[in-house]
Amino acid sequence: MSGDRLQGKVALITGGARGMGEREARLFASEGATVIIADVLDELGTATAAGIGGSASYVHLDVTDADAWSAVVGSVVEQHGQLDVLVNNAGVFYPTPLLTATEAEYRRIIDINQVGVFLGLQAAARVMTTQHRGSIINISSIAGLRGSPGFVAYNASKWAVRGMTRSAAHELAPHGVRVNSIHPGIIDTDMATVFDDMGVRDSLTARIPLGRWADPMEVARMALYLASDDSSYSTGSEFIVDGGMTA
Ligand code: NAD
Repeated sequence: MSGDRLQGKVALITGGARGMGEREARLFASEGATVIIADVLDELGTATAAGIGGSASYVHLDVTDADAWSAVVGSVVEQHGQLDVLVNNAGVFYPTPLLTATEAEYRRIIDINQVGVFLGLQAAARVMTTQHRGSIINISSIAGLRGSPGFVAYNASKWAVRGMTRSAAHELAPHGVRVNSIHPGIIDTDMATVFDDMGVRDSLTARIPLGRWADPMEVARMALYLASDDSSYSTGSEFIVDGGMTA
């Protein structure tokens, strides 16, 4: 399937080496975008970009590194002349039970999932506000809509992403830049194997009205909508893709 919904746009996708980010990179490129995949998995990221073809490239970016963000966004603008879409997708997920989690375990999730999104928002917004256009998509979770026992750090980080999205949307709307969050439910990626390790696959599935986990492409299609001009009147909003789990 291919189209032209992102023709002429330049999109940066963090955590794009695999999982949902990889599907977004593929889908965006098939809709005409120039795609830059940013990740810390250099070998996989390079192979993913090569598999997509000429309109995709890979760059190393640890989203917790502010200087690296400036350098990557600067080089995207230098090479491609613009930045139209940022998907803040990179993230990590592991249990942090309140009574036993260490401070280091808590801080690592906040650093990647929350501070990483802040740094990305800031770096992209500095360019997009001068262009007077842009769409920033922050990948939160249904864990940013409610609580999940045993995951206090992940919950906190994803609620923060949701809050930051709303603040940024207010601040950037006068400059023509839109900011929205996506809240996936249980998506079948490497990340979700945590649930297999915990032995809760079947009990989780039983709580999903649609009765199955999502294919990552089902989230990528929501990201495509938000990246494209089809969503021109949406900003500061939450887009849930969870098979009805939070209904
Ligand atoms: P995934 O583990 O397959 O992909 C995450 C990617 O982020 C990996 O490529 C990883 O290398 C990259 N990453 C991790 N730390 C990084 C860092 N410091 N800098 C740059 N890249 C880094 O997971 P996924 O399921 O595709 O998750 C994508 C996003 O969706 C995450 O933000 C995750 O929290 C969120 N999410 C996932 C689910 C799910 O069920 N899979 C549900 C809700 C939300």
